[in-house]
Amino acid sequence: MTEQFQYQRGNLGWIEVVCGSMFSGKSEELIRRLRRAQIARQRVQIFKPRLDNRYSEDHIVSHSDMKLKSQLVATANEILELVDGRTQVIGIDEGQFFDMQLVAVCNKLADMGKRVIVAGLDQDYRGRPFDPMPQLLAISEYITKTLAICVICGAPANRTHRLVDNTDRMLVGASDMYEARCRLCFEPPQD
Ligand code: ADP
Ligand code: ZN
Repeated sequence: MTEQFQYQRGNLGWIEVVCGSMFSGKSEELIRRLRRAQIARQRVQIFKPRLDNRYSEDHIVSHSDMKLKSQLVATANEILELVDGRTQVIGIDEGQFFDMQLVAVCNKLADMGKRVIVAGLDQDYRGRPFDPMPQLLAISEYITKTLAICVICGAPANRTHRLVDNTDRMLVGASDMYEARCRLCFEPPQD
């Protein structure tokens, strides 16, 4: 079946990625897109990784306190098990905390005709690409890069500066542990 034929049937899925530093508005943007779909009475399912229980167990939550109900999953493959065949739009927050399988899972869902929207950090606290976001960016149809405001100088900020002395790549925290900084004010850890 050609792509064009699938599109005429209204069955073309795709992947949207919203990425940037912490505090750049990724979750706000994800929630905005999902709310609009809900208002239009589309069937929406929202997932987030189980390890991120910062504010709310079963909601995706922005730093500005916007929230939407979500389902917790331990692995990317679990999303496939939980997706209802009738679901039209799938939102995934904190994409960087998923395993590499997330790429194949998003591809499969888009191939099935679903609109998949993934938000996540594009860089870790050292400024290195944060898997699996780079791979998702490569295969996605639409990319939005969000920027925060550098808390030191006010320039557009695309780096996440870690304030505490910890070298774990995954360390869940908010403004108690991180701040948004531009490339000039960002100081990567020395170790
Ligand atoms: P992300 O998901 O990218 O971490 P959120 O969508 O959760 O971002 O939060 C964005 C909100 O964070 C902004 O609307 C603002 O209220 C708040 N915020 C806190 N610090 C900053 C900053 N340095 N620059 C911009 N917004 C900030
Ligand atoms: Zn700066």
